[in-house]
Amino acid sequence: PVVTRFAPSPTGFLHIGGARTALFNWLYARGRGGKFLLRIEDTDRARSTPEATAAILSGLTWLGLDWDGEAISQFERADRHAEVAHQMLAQGHAYKCFATQDEIEAFREAARAEGRSTLYQSPWRDADPATHPDAPYVVRVKAARDGETVIEDSVQGRVVFRNDQLDDMVCLRSDGTPTYMLAVVVDDHDMGVTHIIRGDDHLNNAARQAQVYQAMGWPVPQFAHIPLIHGEDGKKLSKRHGALGIEDYQRMGYPSAAIRNYLARLGWSHGDDEFFSDAQATEWFDLGGIGRAPARLDLKKLDHLTAQHFSVLDDAAVLQELRSYLTATDAAPLSGTQEEALLRAMPQLKDKAKSFGQILERAHFVLTQRPIQPDEKAGKSLDPVSRSILNELTPHLRNASWERERLETIVGDLAAEHGLGLGKIAQPLRAALAGRTVSPSVFDMMVVLGREETLARLQDAAT
Ligand code: GLU
Repeated sequence: PVVTRFAPSPTGFLHIGGARTALFNWLYARGRGGKFLLRIEDTDRARSTPEATAAILSGLTWLGLDWDGEAISQFERADRHAEVAHQMLAQGHAYKCFATQDEIEAFREAARAEGRSTLYQSPWRDADPATHPDAPYVVRVKAARDGETVIEDSVQGRVVFRNDQLDDMVCLRSDGTPTYMLAVVVDDHDMGVTHIIRGDDHLNNAARQAQVYQAMGWPVPQFAHIPLIHGEDGKKLSKRHGALGIEDYQRMGYPSAAIRNYLARLGWSHGDDEFFSDAQATEWFDLGGIGRAPARLDLKKLDHLTAQHFSVLDDAAVLQELRSYLTATDAAPLSGTQEEALLRAMPQLKDKAKSFGQILERAHFVLTQRPIQPDEKAGKSLDPVSRSILNELTPHLRNASWERERLETIVGDLAAEHGLGLGKIAQPLRAALAGRTVSPSVFDMMVVLGREETLARLQDAAT
């Protein structure tokens, strides 16, 4: 069975790159009836914060990337990591190194002077334990000095590291705490991880980690090191590029389904398919579809996908996510009545919308209440002539059948009677119904508001 994991370090928000890594692992596991696990790599006590962990969990939750079981804290497993270090010691795959920092520095200086590799070679590697001093030591993995370490990577292909370019890495510090490199391997092994999909900034680590797998005689998981994400300018992502955290995207008003679709396409492809559902992504996702070149952010594409997702999301789902958008943007929640009105208007509101913000903007006319206070520009279109035309319109609407086409005809006929263009009536009508000069079509608004509310708003404006 396939087991993947996402292993973020809780030192900040959930980065867009991390979110994509999580998504790939999630898709891979979900498409194969496997498990997707979450491990918080909180061993760096100085930089890890509970707030960052909370932000990562809520980011994943918003994205809909559910993990199996409890999130695991790497720090809490420190005893187990140390146990493995001691096991390697006992089996002769690791050794105690008593070298002091000064000695290591002296080794490097001499190596530099003689033009040799400065990779530290500890004299304790083959020392007789009987000669061990009673002094602090670190535990180093006894790595092969000759030959090669080969990583068969699902994305990078066959990656070869010369062993003479890897030193004996420290797995246990002199204070008995495990190093990160050891912790990752022990955790991945104990969690039964079969596939490690992560950023290619970890490719070099894979070679070091392979040494621990070999020392312990554990099977090496399948690695897939994915290229990083670059900005629209093709440069490495940085603060300059603006939105980096997944919660920024939530606050920009994108629905999570569109973000999943968009992130899946960042660096992975399935033929020419751009717009797809979670079910399709889960079915299609495979490591072979991941490219080797860095993916580029492209917010226009995200806008486009967003409009497509709004068109297939059902109205209740849009409302549901709109609520979390309001919370995320510290906006007031909607009342029950407002939600009902919004649901009635939803087909028009979400049509080709690019964000929840835009939906709310369009929804202004259903969310405001009588008497409508027209803004300055809208107020100007409610001059005496226009008001009298609105008055004239009222009796025509009172008994009309309340359908869009019929309403269009009535307003059109009245405009023709006065020898006016449709816009000359539509603008004051819009001001009366929405209080603004920009809104959805007046006929859509009339349909959504219904006869009573429409007539009441016209009357308010005409008097
Ligand atoms: N904690 C590492 C990071 O945040 C990930 C390590 C891994 O996936 O093996 O980049």
